[in-house]
Order: sequence, then structure tokens, then C-alpha cells
Amino acid sequence: MKIYFKPLTYITIFAFALFACSSDDSVSDGGNGDDDDVGVTELHAAFAAFNSDAVTAILSDDGTEVYIETTGFPNHTSIYWETDNALYIDEPGVTKTTQDTYIGGGQGEAASFTVDATPDLTGATVTTQLNTIGIAVSGASIFNDQEGMGDLDQAAGSLDWAGAHKGPGVYHYHLEPTPITSDDDSLVGILLDGVFIYGRQCSSTGTNPTDLDASGGHTSTTQYTDGAEEYHYHIINEVYPAGNYAYAPAYVLFAGPFQGY
Ligand SMILES: [Zn+2]
Ligand SMILES: [Zn+2]
Repeated sequence: MKIYFKPLTYITIFAFALFACSSDDSVSDGGNGDDDDVGVTELHAAFAAFNSDAVTAILSDDGTEVYIETTGFPNHTSIYWETDNALYIDEPGVTKTTQDTYIGGGQGEAASFTVDATPDLTGATVTTQLNTIGIAVSGASIFNDQEGMGDLDQAAGSLDWAGAHKGPGVYHYHLEPTPITSDDDSLVGILLDGVFIYGRQCSSTGTNPTDLDASGGHTSTTQYTDGAEEYHYHIINEVYPAGNYAYAPAYVLFAGPFQGY
């Protein structure tokens, strides 16, 4: 999916917006049609870090694509579980988006998409959309720093200790998900452009990297690349003024743009 903001493409943008609003459970990589990809022979080692109760990742026969599906159920506690669920916790500082919403309710949490096994790092960038932009290792969806058509600050009071909430759509993270990472180098998940995202520190140096591009990306070794250098994102180590978020300080998980399409 490439979005060019020229007058002649308003129809395309409108159609894309309809798609983004109408489908939370099936997200494609935009069909960029790059059939000349060179295949890999095995699934990236980082997939071993995903919650296998929720996430399934399958490498295509030709090794060029990875099909990923998830139940969307995170393997950690939240106020957004039903009160009789073992993972339910009360979070007095959190005002739920609506009282009757819970993980597994509404349209459910499932999501699936296909990514390039080798991200297309040609320098082109793509804006993130208001929907699932990736899957976290917990199994739940990753969203960007926008809520509806407005700023996230408006909804920050509804975010749980994981920096996530559930509206009419799927349960999703907007902020550094502390059950997964808290200023460390843990793998956070994979985004729709096939690029992995890590916590605020990089395993290559053991520090908060200072050479990140606008997306929080850089190229170095990670704990899953067996000494090889690979482009990946980090949660940018910059405090985000997230309105009345109960667990400040907040760090935006990923604001884009995608670098791997
Ligand atoms: Zn949201
Ligand atoms: Zn790094």
C-alpha cells in the first residue's frame, strides 16, 4: 500500500479509509506485488518469542512471505478481561472505554496478515493507518499513536497498565507495553511491513540507541540474528504527554512511518 497525496488519488484514499474502518480482522500487506523477492529457508528466529497459544506464523513454500494469525488474546493481566477471567485485574486509575467492553467481546480480537519474509527496505515510507499495524509477542494488536481521527491524549485515561485498551474493535496497544518491555531490549512484536520492533534498548549495545531514524529504526545485530545485522525498530525513548494516562511516563509504541514496504 503506497499512499501518494496528489489530488487525483482522493478516491483511492477514500476507498482505503473505508477499508481501514470496516475490517479489523483481516489486514493485508497492501499487495505491493514484489514477486521478485528472494526466499528464505526458515522462519525468523524471533518468532519463537511469540505467545504460541495465540500466534501462528507460517513461512510460504517459496520462502518469500510469512502468514501470521493471532487470536488477539494477550497473555497478561488487564482490566479489559471479563471480571471472572483469571487475568482480570482491577485498575482503579483506568476508565474503561465503555463499561461493557471486554477482551473476546464485540467483534473479538482475531487478526491475520501476510508480510514479506524479507522487508523491502528501498527507502520508500508508508504512513500507518488507524487499525492493526502489527502483532505483539503477547498475541494482541499494535496500533499507532492516533485514536479515531484525533489525538491519543483524549483516550489516554482508558489505557491499561499495558498501554492498551479495547473499543468497538480489537484490544490493542498504543504505548510501551510494560508486560512485554520496560526500557529493556525485549522483542515487542512484528509490524505489517515485516520489520520487528524491540523495546527502548538495543541488545547490540545494551543502551538506548542514539542512531534511530524517524521511525525508530536502525540496523544492527539483535538477540535473534545470530551475529548478523538487520534493520529493526525500537520504541523511541521519548516521553509522550499522554493526557491522563494512569501509568505515566508513557512512550509511543510506534508512530510510523513504515520503512519496510
Ligand atoms: Zn485505541
Ligand atoms: Zn537496535
